[in-house]
Amino acid sequence: QAKALGRGRHSTFHSTMRLQAQQRISLEEALGNAVQNGEIKPFLQPIFRLDDKTLTGFEALVRWQHPQLGLLMPAAFLEQAEDSGLIQEIDMCVFASACAVIASWQQIHGLGNLRLSSNLSARSLADPRVKVHIKEILESTAINPASVYLEITETTFVDDIESTTATINALRDLGLRLAIDDFGTGYSSLLYLKRFPVGVLKIDRSFVSGLGKNPEDEVIATTILTLAKALELEVVAEGVENEAQMKRMRELGCDYGQGYWFGHPITIEATDVAFIEPLRQAPLIP
Ligand code: C2E
Ligand code: MG
Ligand code: MG
Ligand code: MG
Repeated sequence: QAKALGRGRHSTFHSTMRLQAQQRISLEEALGNAVQNGEIKPFLQPIFRLDDKTLTGFEALVRWQHPQLGLLMPAAFLEQAEDSGLIQEIDMCVFASACAVIASWQQIHGLGNLRLSSNLSARSLADPRVKVHIKEILESTAINPASVYLEITETTFVDDIESTTATINALRDLGLRLAIDDFGTGYSSLLYLKRFPVGVLKIDRSFVSGLGKNPEDEVIATTILTLAKALELEVVAEGVENEAQMKRMRELGCDYGQGYWFGHPITIEATDVAFIEPLRQAPLIP
C-alpha cells in the first residue's frame, strides 16, 4: 500500500512512516475496547518440578485475539498498552481469567496447591487501584493465595518506589508472593530481595540457552542458584528448549523448569485437555 502511494524513494519512505503511525493509532484505539470485547485472554504455559517431573502450575501469558489481525503476541501490543495506560486493565483481565480457571482446577483432588504465576507491569504495581482489584479477584475466585505468584522484573523496583512499595506490601498482606522475572537481565540493586516478599527467581532464558556450551552462562546460572539457596528462594529456569538444558539445570540444583521442551503456552481449553484431564483421571491411590 505504501508503495502504491509513494512516488519515488523519498515519498515512499514518508508514506510508510505515516502508514505505521496510522496502524499504531488504530491498534491503540482497538486495544481500548479489546478488554470489554473479551479479546484479551491468557494462554497458559506449564511449569514442572525438575526432580520428579511433576506439574507445579502455570504461567499466564497474555494474547489478543484481534478480530481482523488474528492472534497477537505481547510483543505486538504491550508497548502501546504501556504507553496508553491500558496495561493495568490488561494485567487485571489476564489475572482474573487465569485465577478463575486455576481456582477451579485446585478443586480437583490432589491439585489444591496448583500454582498460578501472572505478570504485572511496573505501571500496574505503581497504580494504587491495582491492589484493590487483586484483592477482589482473590476473593471472588477463592483461589488459594499462597499458590499465587506475581511476576515482576527487576526494573520495577526503580520505578515510582513509593507507590510500588505500597502495592507490594498490600500484596504480601494478602498472602501473595513475588517472582522476579528475567532475573539477571535488570540493573537494579539486589536490596529488593531482602526488602520484599520475593519467593522465586526466574533465570532468564538467555542464560539457560548457553548451558553446557557457554562457560559464562554456566557461571551465571550457578551463581544465581547459590544466591537463591542462601536466601531460601526457589528458582525456575525459563526457556528450557531441550533435554540437555533440563538435565543441566537439574544437576545444578534448579527447582523448576519452564519452556518449549515441557510445553508451549496454549489456550485454557487446550491446557485442560493436555495437562489437567490426565490428572483428573489418575487413580487416587497410585
Ligand atoms: P516472560 O514473562 O519472561 O514470559 C516468557 C516468554 O518466553 C513468553 O513469551 C513465552 O512464550 C516465551 N517462552 C517460553 N518458553 C520458551 C522457550 O522455550 N523458548 C523461547 N524462545 N521462548 C519461550 P510471550 O508469551 O511472547 O511473552 C513475552 C513477554 O510479555 C513476557 O515475558 C512478559 O514479560 C510479557 N507479558 C506476557 N503476558 C503479560 C501480561 O499479562 N502482563 C504483562 N504486563 N506482561 C506480560
Ligand atoms: Mg513472566
Ligand atoms: Mg521471563
Ligand atoms: Mg521476558
